[in-house]
Amino acid sequence: MVHPKDAPDLHLTGPLSIHQGCCGPLGTGGRNMACPCGALVATLAADCMGPHELHLDPLRVYAYPADTTM
Ligand SMILES: [Zn+2]
Repeated sequence: MVHPKDAPDLHLTGPLSIHQGCCGPLGTGGRNMACPCGALVATLAADCMGPHELHLDPLRVYAYPADTTM
């Protein structure tokens, strides 16, 4: 789980319909954030009623050290 602003390349997919809160997505409908290629990779919960969290899908996302020369 990361801060939503830690993954600026992801974008919200829509429409969220019932999974839209009053100020942002509830995150109750499963993955709602896509990477630039269109693959759904994370769930964003960012309504005013709760914490703003970005849940990365463990099956579709992996971590590596940022200072690694690729
Ligand atoms: Zn609200």
